Amino acid sequence: MLPDRCSVKESGKQCVNPPVFVVSIVDDKDEYMVGVTCGRHKQIVLGKIGILQKEGKIHSGKINFSILKAVGTACAHGDMDDFVQIDMK
Ligand SMILES: [Zn+2]
Repeated sequence: MLPDRCSVKESGKQCVNPPVFVVSIVDDKDEYMVGVTCGRHKQIVLGKIGILQKEGKIHSGKINFSILKAVGTACAHGDMDDFVQIDMK
């Protein structure tokens, strides 16, 4: 199961929008789901994941956004514990 809320937190409040995109990182051999985002926060998530990659906190690779409906949870790798929580201060 995927979260039913966008992964972004604004000023300590969870974004209440339903996720529109699944965010994943694609490398040579695999694809890792790292979070979900609503349409409004897509750019923020993209920027934040770029930073986390530079810091070596998550997988390196290409950041990919897929429309949520198109993703079969059975064929994508990912663990809820790996999902990023994006805090906007
Ligand atoms: Zn959002």
